[in-house]
Amino acid sequence: MQGIIVKIISGDYFVKCNDEIIKCKPLGIFRHKKLAPKVGDIAEITDNTIVELKERKNELIRPVVANVDKVIIVTSLIEPDLNLHLLDRIICQAEYNNIEIILVFSKTDLVDINDYSYVFDYYKKIGYKIYLSPNDYELIKQEINDNVCVVAGQSGVGKSTLINLFDDFNIKTDEISKALGRGKHTTRCSELLQVGSGYIADTPGFGTVDLDMDVVTLSQTFVEFFECKCKFNPCLHLNEPHCLVKDKVESGEILKSRYENYLDFVKEIKNKKNRY
Ligand code: ZN
Repeated sequence: MQGIIVKIISGDYFVKCNDEIIKCKPLGIFRHKKLAPKVGDIAEITDNTIVELKERKNELIRPVVANVDKVIIVTSLIEPDLNLHLLDRIICQAEYNNIEIILVFSKTDLVDINDYSYVFDYYKKIGYKIYLSPNDYELIKQEINDNVCVVAGQSGVGKSTLINLFDDFNIKTDEISKALGRGKHTTRCSELLQVGSGYIADTPGFGTVDLDMDVVTLSQTFVEFFECKCKFNPCLHLNEPHCLVKDKVESGEILKSRYENYLDFVKEIKNKKNRY
């Protein structure tokens, strides 16, 4: 029987097969191979034992989740103020992990959203799906269907508010709690919560993100930079002559904050390299 690991707690693995959650132990072989099953793993189970894990398409370290389809990045327009630096940082890490990116701008009811339309338009132009919270809540929910999603963003942006809006959430939490024989207020651990026909990881990830990549890779995670055919190849868009990216920043075609954040990240990665 095959299912998805939805929860791991003190050595017990909860695998959802069809509509049933089955408590399992993994075969010792995973320990020897140092291949610990993670939530999001597709597992083959026999007699309450995980006998095989399907190959992962990706895996995140923070939160620990395998096979992530989408990252929903929540950014508030106010309280805390719009933080494009953190947004770009999370985008880089998600692009690096090859995960589809959904942008949710929250607290849109507390500001004049016309002041922010340049942000929505820009990120839409470079290819990201944009939703506004709370208005687009139903559409955001639909994005989760049939996918494993991680919700990312700094604290206070309204991640929990958004997650709590999904009705199935509480029901399913109860179901899992029942299977566990514990109350609702169990200590949080690695867990996937069902929303519609998809899942969200309950541990918000990417709060603080280490950019764990080299500078060339970083430049490729800025999708609109990557499309520029600069004279130098690869061009890091720093001091190279005839750099199309710099031209486009100058002309306003590339958002200035994107380029400034890129320069910050380059500096950060270079400094980190010097430290080791
Ligand atoms: Zn360039």
